[in-house]
Amino acid sequence: MTVFSELNLIEPLLHALEKQGFETPTPIQGSAIPHLLEGRDCMGIAQTGGGKTAAFVLPLIQKLSHERTRPKSSKPTAIILAPTRELAAQIGLCIQIFTRDIKLFHTVIYGGAPYGPQLQALVRGIDILVATPGRLKDHINRGTVKLDNVQTFILDEADRMLDMGFIEEVQELSAKLPEDHQTVMFSATMSPPIKKLSKSLLKLPVFVEAPRESIVAETIDHSVLMVAQQHKKDLLMHLLALEGKERVLVFVRTKASTEALVADIESEVEGIKAAALHGDKPQRARERTLRSFKRGNFSVLVATDVAARGIDVNGITHVINYDLPMEPENYVHRVGRTGRAGASGIAISLCEPREKHLLRSVEQTIEQKVRIDVDHPFPLLSPKKKKHTSAGQVKPLKKTKKTFSKNKGKPGFKDAKRTNKKTHAADKRSASKRQKFKRAS
Ligand code: AMP
Repeated sequence: MTVFSELNLIEPLLHALEKQGFETPTPIQGSAIPHLLEGRDCMGIAQTGGGKTAAFVLPLIQKLSHERTRPKSSKPTAIILAPTRELAAQIGLCIQIFTRDIKLFHTVIYGGAPYGPQLQALVRGIDILVATPGRLKDHINRGTVKLDNVQTFILDEADRMLDMGFIEEVQELSAKLPEDHQTVMFSATMSPPIKKLSKSLLKLPVFVEAPRESIVAETIDHSVLMVAQQHKKDLLMHLLALEGKERVLVFVRTKASTEALVADIESEVEGIKAAALHGDKPQRARERTLRSFKRGNFSVLVATDVAARGIDVNGITHVINYDLPMEPENYVHRVGRTGRAGASGIAISLCEPREKHLLRSVEQTIEQKVRIDVDHPFPLLSPKKKKHTSAGQVKPLKKTKKTFSKNKGKPGFKDAKRTNKKTHAADKRSASKRQKFKRAS
């Protein structure tokens, strides 16, 4: 499949695609759209960044625009369930783009946002409802969303939905839908629980999978910098000060460290503006931060995994893993924020010695080795050499009684001397905490 017109899409959609600059369908779009237009149940395996949103949004819009009757109050015709607010908002945006010339109403509802505007939209009547599971359940319980008209049920990022503990909500919802409806499920992986869920939700489904060489986009350059914990922050500042990082997403483990790191970046790297994104920020503030990042008002966004899910900002040049993710799958989601839709991207991970096992898990998950880049100003000093005995046991080298000066001129002395120097230099660097890193550009 090479062009969208071969997918039997209607003119207003082809026009919107052209306006968006989407010339050819991505693999998942090419394989899913024809089946979804036929109304088949579908299980799609697709990574974030591969165009899966448009793969289910385009056929849904086309179907609804053909069959459309005026939407009834509180009775959506299609429900799209997403695990997080950000992803739900992103899907809403995609629907908005493709319904510019088509008379269809949609709304997005999620927790943390006020009920008033959501109720108004629901009462007015909508064709497509995009929702997170918790808030949708609230509306169903209050009677402000009724399910009798639902013809299509789409479950996006089903694996994430299960990880977040929403399985009961999903099953309850599915059981309440009218007998005759289309169900579409998308997931990044086909784990046993996803298989089980798909069996319970889907009827005679087609199975589509984006052909992929690798679990992460091939356009992303991955590298890891080994660094001692005490030099990690200085290394980050050094990286941010280098030229060419127009839009950088930095991932950290805790909410508190997002805010702390933002303050450090702004005070230590000249000319760089940064902002934090984490789950404790009110929804409105999170949306404001993302809009501002998209507009380019600041160049470094420091985020936790939860908040970063669903971020779709074009032109993210670098993803920096300040902390390696505890769950290796999150590495895939994190780096998927760069190198989107064929663009190139750079993923740099800072790895402390105690995080090495996390790096190994990441490598297993992405099925490739991550290149270790030693060319940076805070390299990790190699641990003491161990001596192997003939029996295969490992014994530490015996401490030599020779003094430093006695070793002078003997093999090994130069190395020892260089090592000492390095430690000193690195310590000195980290000691000058308030130093300003100048951007190279
Ligand atoms: P998704 O995997 O749905 O999150 O989409 C990832 C990115 O790809 C989004 O920024 C889309 O706007 C973009 N995109 C989707 N379909 C296409 C296409 N056919 N050609 C180019 N870009 C696309």
